[in-house]
Amino acid sequence: MQHFSNYIGGELVPPLSGNYLDLINPATGKVYAQVPDSHSEDVEAAYEAAAKAFPAWASMKVAERADILHAIADGIARRHEELALAETTDNGKPLKLSQRVDIPRAESNFRFFSRAITQFSNESHDMGEMGFNYTLRRPLGVVGLISPWNLPLYLFSWKVAPALASGNTAVAKPSEVTPYTAYLLSEICKGAGLPDGVLNIVHGKGAEVGEAIVQHPKIKAISFTGSTAVGKRIASIAGPMFKKMSLEMGGKNANVIFADADYENALNTSIQSSFANQGQICLCGSRILVEKPIYERFVEDFVEKTKQLKVGDPLEKVNMGAIVSKPQLDKDLSYLQLVKTEGGTLHTGGHRPENLSERCQEGYFLRPAVITGLGPSCRLNQEEVFGPLVTIQPFEGEEEALALANATPYGLSATLWTQHLQRAHRVAASLEAGIIWVNSWLVRDLRTPFGGVKQSGVGREGGLEVLRFFTEPKNVFIKL
Ligand code: NAD
Repeated sequence: MQHFSNYIGGELVPPLSGNYLDLINPATGKVYAQVPDSHSEDVEAAYEAAAKAFPAWASMKVAERADILHAIADGIARRHEELALAETTDNGKPLKLSQRVDIPRAESNFRFFSRAITQFSNESHDMGEMGFNYTLRRPLGVVGLISPWNLPLYLFSWKVAPALASGNTAVAKPSEVTPYTAYLLSEICKGAGLPDGVLNIVHGKGAEVGEAIVQHPKIKAISFTGSTAVGKRIASIAGPMFKKMSLEMGGKNANVIFADADYENALNTSIQSSFANQGQICLCGSRILVEKPIYERFVEDFVEKTKQLKVGDPLEKVNMGAIVSKPQLDKDLSYLQLVKTEGGTLHTGGHRPENLSERCQEGYFLRPAVITGLGPSCRLNQEEVFGPLVTIQPFEGEEEALALANATPYGLSATLWTQHLQRAHRVAASLEAGIIWVNSWLVRDLRTPFGGVKQSGVGREGGLEVLRFFTEPKNVFIKL
C-alpha cells in the first residue's frame, strides 16, 4: 500500500502522529493508498518552515522566482500522464478529462503566474507641486491555502502559483478526498529547485488541518475554495483575527436560454455545462431556464441527449466517470428523493448505470438526471447538490428570466444564450453572478477576475486581482 507524505521544509515527511487516512478509488470503491492524518503539530512545523523561508524568498529577484515557477510548470508537463492517471484514480473523472483539462491547466497556472508577476506594477499618484504618492506592494508573509476535491491539482495550483509568485511562503492543504496530485506536486517542487520551506503541504482532515491553518495566529491570509458552509466557518474564525480572506464557495448557477439562441449550440453546450466532471464543477449550470416558445422541444432533445451519455469506467472512453465519494453519491441520491416530495418529474437518470465493467462493480456511479416541474423555491432549485442533476424551468421574457436566475442565495456564474446583442448586454449586466458566459461556457482567460457574489464568494482570484490579494499595499507620500 502506497503511503503519501507531508511536504515540510523541503522534505517528504510522515505525519507526527503516525496516523493515516484511507484513500478510495471511487471507480472501484477500493482503498488504493493512505494519506497523512495530520494535526496542529504538523501545521506548526509547516508554519515554522514557511516563516524561516520567507525572508529569502520575498527578497529574491522576481525573475529568479519566476524561473522557479516556470520549472515547476515544466515538471508538471514532464509528468503529465502520471498526474492525469493519479487525478482520475483519486477523483473518478474520465482519464481524458484529466489529460485534456485538469493537468494542462495546472501547468498553465504556474506558467501564467511566472509571467504575470514580472508584469505586476505598483501605482503612483502625482499631486503636482505638492509631491507624489507611490504604493509599495509587498508579500504578506506566510499564507494558508485550502482547496477542494473537484478539480484537485487545477484549483490547488490556482492558489499556490500566485501566492508564491508574489513572494509569500505557504502552508497548503489539499482536500483529504483527493490529495494524490498535490503529493506528486511536492516531488515536482523538490526537483524544480524550489527553496526548502517556501511551499509546505500538510495533508489531513478539514476540521483538523484546515482549522489549524485558519486559527494559526501568524498565518496572515486564508485563500479557500470549497463549500459555503465551510467558508462560513472559516470566516467566523479568521474574521475576528482580521486575516485577509479570499473565499470561493458554492453555486447554483443558472443557464438561461432565450428562444432566439443558436439552438444546437445551446443544446450541446448545455449537456457539457450540466454534466462535465459528473456535474461536479462549481461553474456547472445546474438550473436550466428556457424561454417558453422552445421549452417543450428543448426538454425533449435535452433528455434524449442525456440518455446517450456513456457513464462508466473512467479509464475507458466515457462521457462521465464515477462520483467522487460514497458520501457525495449519498448526497446526490438524497436530493433525488426530493424530486417526488417536491412534486417534480424525473425524465431520465438518477440510478446506477447498467453494464459496469467487472472492475467498477463496487464503484460510485450515477446516471445523469433531468428534472422538470419544480418551482424556483424548491430545495432542488435553491440548494447546491454538486452532482449530475439538473432542473429545467420555463420562463416568459427577460424580466422573468432574471427573476428566476437571481432567485437563489448563490451568485458564482451564469450562462446566457441569445443572438440579440442588446439583450445579451442588458441581461449580463443584471445577472447576480461574478462570471457570465454569453453563447459559451467555461471559456477561461487567466487574466480575468474569477469569483462569485452573494454566498458564492468574497474576493476574486485570477490575474492581477489575486496578486493584489497576496500583497499588502503601503502608500508613501513624498513632499516636493
Ligand atoms: P469542503 O468545503 O467540504 O472542503 C474544501 C476544503 O476545506 C477541503 O480541503 C477540506 O478539508 C477543508 N475544510 C473542511 N472543513 C474545514 C474547516 N472547518 N476549516 C478549514 N478547512 C476545512 O468542499 P468540498 O466538498 O471539498 O468541495 C465542494 C465544494 O467546493 C462545493 O460547494 C463547490 O461549489 C465548491 N467549489 C467552489 C469553487 C469556486 O471557485 N467558487 C470551485 C470549486 C469548488
